Amino acid sequence: MPSDPPSHPPSHPLEARHVLEFPGGYTRSTGPVIGRFLTELRDRRIVGVRTAGARVLVPPLEYDPDTGEAVTGEYVEVGPAGTVQAWAWVSAPRPAHPLDRPFAWATIRLDGADTALVHAVDAGGPKAMRPGMRVRPRWRDRTSGTITDIECFVPEVTMITAPIRTEYRVRPGAALTRFLERIGDGVLLGGRCAGCDQVYVPYRTSCPACGALIEEEREVADTGTVTTFAINNLPDPRAPEVPFVSAYILLDGADIPMIALVGGIPAHEVRQGMRVRAVWVPPEERTMSMADIRWFAPTGEPDADLSAGTPGGGA
Ligand SMILES: [Zn+2]
Repeated sequence: MPSDPPSHPPSHPLEARHVLEFPGGYTRSTGPVIGRFLTELRDRRIVGVRTAGARVLVPPLEYDPDTGEAVTGEYVEVGPAGTVQAWAWVSAPRPAHPLDRPFAWATIRLDGADTALVHAVDAGGPKAMRPGMRVRPRWRDRTSGTITDIECFVPEVTMITAPIRTEYRVRPGAALTRFLERIGDGVLLGGRCAGCDQVYVPYRTSCPACGALIEEEREVADTGTVTTFAINNLPDPRAPEVPFVSAYILLDGADIPMIALVGGIPAHEVRQGMRVRAVWVPPEERTMSMADIRWFAPTGEPDADLSAGTPGGGA
């Protein structure tokens, strides 16, 4: 059996160095069972053998290791994919190892097999290894009927990162156009439904509650009450530096809250019931968009009692 030549000098006077090697290789017969396994490998198939107890042994053996009985001689194609059961990470591969970069020796139970075989897994790093991970063989370009016809196993593809980019334009409808025109004037425009007496901000032309046409425009205050909020820790180019707060704000005179940024206060001090007022950007910088409101900042008034009903008061 070949072994790696000793690369270190003896460290003890009585230590001797030996190399056991069969130049040209050690020739042995495979026997029918292993021979069948290796022949199938050469054709890029992996087979196991069925035992009398109907288990499938991979690699196949001549005798059932549990009972000592001869196997049935029925061969079953398995895999080629399988599941990692356990592994040992090899951070410094030796010359005879199947890969020249760090890899794992793993026990892999191929689909359809009842036993695991040992093979190399090329996973990139030890953190990628986990029990239950799905792998499949990477075959060598040329096969010759040896276990190394499988260069190694590699993780199955379970995730991809696809480049995504969509460019599109949105044109506001009549109601939103009207709302944004007034935003440019520093006015929050709502609409009152004559059917159910609800005031909606932003302005819209049909009532989501009763379906009636909304024909009455109504300006609402730029003050309101925080009803719910979220502290955001993912950066957003349209928002202040993280952590920033987005909130539903029930404007005074409206019946439905509107989502907006909250600023001018540390994120952890924002609370439900907090009274806020819109901070408008200067008129010459306005763009007729929601960005015309920089954010809502605390007014300093006492908090509203949300449990007492509609804090802003409906129309
Ligand atoms: Zn209505």
